[in-house]
This record gives sequence, structure tokens and C-alpha cells, in this order.
Amino acid sequence: MQFHNADLITIDPVIRPSFSHRNITAFTLRLDKCHPVVSGNKWFKLQFYLEEAKKGNKKTIATFGGPWSNHLVATAAACNSLGLQSIGYVRGEKPKQLSPTLLAATSYGMNLQFLSRACYAAEKNNPTNPLTNYVIAEGGFGELGVKGAATIANLFNEKDFTHVLAAVGSGTMIAGLAQALHQVSLIGIPALKGKEALEKAIKKIAPHAAERCTMLEGFEWGGFAKHPAELLSYMNQLFKTTHIPTDIVYTAKLFYVAEQLAANNYFKENSRLLLIHSGGLQGNQSLKKEDLCFPLAGL
Ligand SMILES: *Cc1c(COP(=O)(O)O)cnc(C)c1O
Repeated sequence: MQFHNADLITIDPVIRPSFSHRNITAFTLRLDKCHPVVSGNKWFKLQFYLEEAKKGNKKTIATFGGPWSNHLVATAAACNSLGLQSIGYVRGEKPKQLSPTLLAATSYGMNLQFLSRACYAAEKNNPTNPLTNYVIAEGGFGELGVKGAATIANLFNEKDFTHVLAAVGSGTMIAGLAQALHQVSLIGIPALKGKEALEKAIKKIAPHAAERCTMLEGFEWGGFAKHPAELLSYMNQLFKTTHIPTDIVYTAKLFYVAEQLAANNYFKENSRLLLIHSGGLQGNQSLKKEDLCFPLAGL
């Protein structure tokens, strides 16, 4: 597996949704095209952790995630390609049937350990985990994750855009973008409720990042990973008109918000938006095949 970012990223100027009459153009940075498994922002966030582990001659990497975690499977695949062992601590009891995400992680040699929710919460940021010698926090959260995410900004010229919009989970990606971008307006769309906790967390890993970006609350569709039928039909309609596949947790909500904001005159005329397609398509495998008009595991 190779990660030559420049070869893999295309800026796909294909979204011109209903609001093109006001001359607002939305471009998409297709990080989902980076790699089929280490998709989206995850490679960017992982790169400096893995480099540090390699340099320190660490052999085993442990990290944390839920049964549908993009981060967990990305870590498994990246470790596999770099000749590192990996341990995945999974939130919740071991299910009878492993999710496609966990099966994929296993296929990359990840050793899965299931933790009760209480135990998981206590352990997920514990850097002195006895079973391993290098721990990456849930979601790649941390300063090296921020440093890695900042390299996403090398893939475009911020002068070409008025706004950059990105989905937010742990806040690591948006913190990296905030460090790297100086002029453009940066908008974060949280996938979880609780803006205060999020901004507090971001402050810990990137003290000035929160001031650089506007977090728009209220677009969680009921909460993390909730996906009412209306969201699914939006994803299908978006795919039919733009051929862009999105995921239920992060990117569908991002695209939806961008269109809503434009329709409600949030952006000035002639604005040029860059939407970061941060990947995560594998998570759609929690759906039924007939829910989406594109393959659940991505294109
Ligand atoms: C992990 C993930 C995010 C959130 O990134 P954070 O750095 O945790 O904020 C956004 N989009 C997708 C598709 C992801 O998988």
C-alpha cells in the first residue's frame, strides 16, 4: 500500500446543486478516493503516530473504536501495510456476528479485544495500556493527529475558496485545518451533540483552533450515526445528481448542511465552497443494500 497523496486526490468540481443561480459553487475534495480502506481523513491523522511508532521501534499499536469505526479499520490496514501488529479495543461486548468493519480489521491482522462500555470509557485515552507499547487515542485524537490533519490543506490552495466546510467528530481534523488555513472561513459540522465539550477537547490539542472555525450545531439528525429515511433519500438524490457517494455519519450531513445554508442565503453571491469529503463510506455497511442506490462499501 502506498500513500502518495498528490496522486490520489482529485478536486472534483461536480457539485452545483440547486443554488447555482446565486453563483455559489461547491467543490469537493475527495479524500474518500485516497485509499479504499484507509479512507478519507484517517490516513492523514494516523501518519505521524505511525511514523513515531516506527522510529521508536514499537511493534504493536493499540487503538480504540466502536464496531463501525472508520478509525479502527483504517489503523488495522495501515499497520498491516507497515509491518506493525495492531490491537483494536472495541466498545461493547463481543457480538455473535462481527460487523463488516470488525471482520475487515481482523483480516488485516488486528487483534480485537472487546471492552464493556464502562471499561472502554475508562481505558480509551489511557497511554499506559499494559498490553501494547504504542497507543493511539480513539479517532486519532491528539497533537500528532492535528499535525497530520493539517497536511490535508496542502492538497488545495485556500485562495481558490471563500469557505472550507468539514464534518467534525473528535475535532482533530478541523483543528488541523484551522492551524493550516489562515484566510478562508472554516465551518465545522459536528456529527455529535455537545458543542461545549467538543470545543474544550479541541482546545487541549490545538489551543487556538476553536477560534478559527465556526461550529454549526443542530445538524446531527438526532445524534451520532442516526440516519432517518430523509437523510438516506438525500444521499440517493445527491448521488444521482453528482455521482458523489456519502456516508450516513459524517459526509451526508455535511453536504446537506452546505446546500441548506446556500439555500438560506448564508453565503454571499459568488462564494466558492470547498467541502472536504472525509471518506467513511465503509460505515454504510450497517445499512440494508436497498437503502442506497450506490454500493454500501463505497465505489
Ligand atoms: C473520523 C471521521 C470524521 C471526523 O474526524 P475528526 O478528526 O474525528 O473530527 C469525519 N468524517 C469521516 C468520514 C470520518 O471517518
